[in-house]
Amino acid sequence: MIYVHVPFCKSFCIYCGFYSELCNKDNAFASYCEGVCREIEARREEILAAASPRTLYFGGGTPSVLPLKYLRRIVEALPGGYEEFTVEANPDDITPEYSSALAGMGVNRISLGVQSFDDGILRWMNRRHDAAQAVRAIEIIREAGIENISIDLIFGFPLLTDEIWNDTLRKALALRPQHISAYQLSVEEGSALDELARSGAFAQAGEEQCLSQYDTLCRLLSEAGYRHYEVSNFAIPGYEAVHNGAYWARAPYVGLGPGAHSFDGRLTRSWNTQALTGWHREQETLTMHDEAVEKVMLALRAADGMPESDLLANANPEAVSALLQKGALKKNRDGRLRIAENHFFVSDDIIYLLISTR
Ligand code: SF4
Repeated sequence: MIYVHVPFCKSFCIYCGFYSELCNKDNAFASYCEGVCREIEARREEILAAASPRTLYFGGGTPSVLPLKYLRRIVEALPGGYEEFTVEANPDDITPEYSSALAGMGVNRISLGVQSFDDGILRWMNRRHDAAQAVRAIEIIREAGIENISIDLIFGFPLLTDEIWNDTLRKALALRPQHISAYQLSVEEGSALDELARSGAFAQAGEEQCLSQYDTLCRLLSEAGYRHYEVSNFAIPGYEAVHNGAYWARAPYVGLGPGAHSFDGRLTRSWNTQALTGWHREQETLTMHDEAVEKVMLALRAADGMPESDLLANANPEAVSALLQKGALKKNRDGRLRIAENHFFVSDDIIYLLISTR
């Protein structure tokens, strides 16, 4: 698994706390690209060792802001032959030429930052696109021969009435993307929303609204045949994200570019510093306790859950049996334990209970 972080955006969305720089200067793209290619050379053995699953993911930031010649140079410096090759894109960057060029490079999945199909909400979020551009972008991507499209949506904030949320979900389903990721809005440190919240100009939505919107999301997507395979992720069966699934299974991955994280599949996590040039790697070694917590946190967010023996070894057995009795945990047909779908909304609380009392 290879992840490449592209730390550029043309503007900043109100809720965003990801590492990214406002940039459209060619020399910044060029030096970023040279830095990534140097890192690929220096870490070639690690990259070859992290070959299962064979996935490549360009995330950001906004990878679709990076001019194609630089994207191509990075792709050509990497091994190739991917089972899943994803590029995150903003709808307003999608053109027929751009989409065909991605298809020609082997991209077989696009993750599109749609967020909403309501123009008022999109303006409030400071997104660059409107709803019509998102619809058109999906058509263009399909016309270029890329069939596997994931869209991101956001719910759970005061401006988003139930009516607007229902309408957004109906419009999303009419487009039939293969995959939908839906996140509850959170106030990220350093985001514009964080400043508004601190000044009292923004208050988070109440739990009742968030729960009701999450329930609507789960119900409508399930009725439309999507599999709710992770707390925030839904897919037409067979289109579950391979790359993200491997993160949750703690497979080794190599993260390239400023701010990217890597994991050796055992106890070492490392991350590149957040600088456009001259970034370097820092690392930490997980303790056995950190490892246990991480295994439970990642596995229980997924519908496949984890083997009962693993959960009992890594969490508090008494909490496991209490949650089973309550129906918050349940046994899948294959005997693995998972969080029941009607308790996914409070998965963080359940996981906390399992590991904090360990
Ligand atoms: S959400 Fe995406 S496009 Fe918006 S500022 Fe963050 S990284 Fe950039």
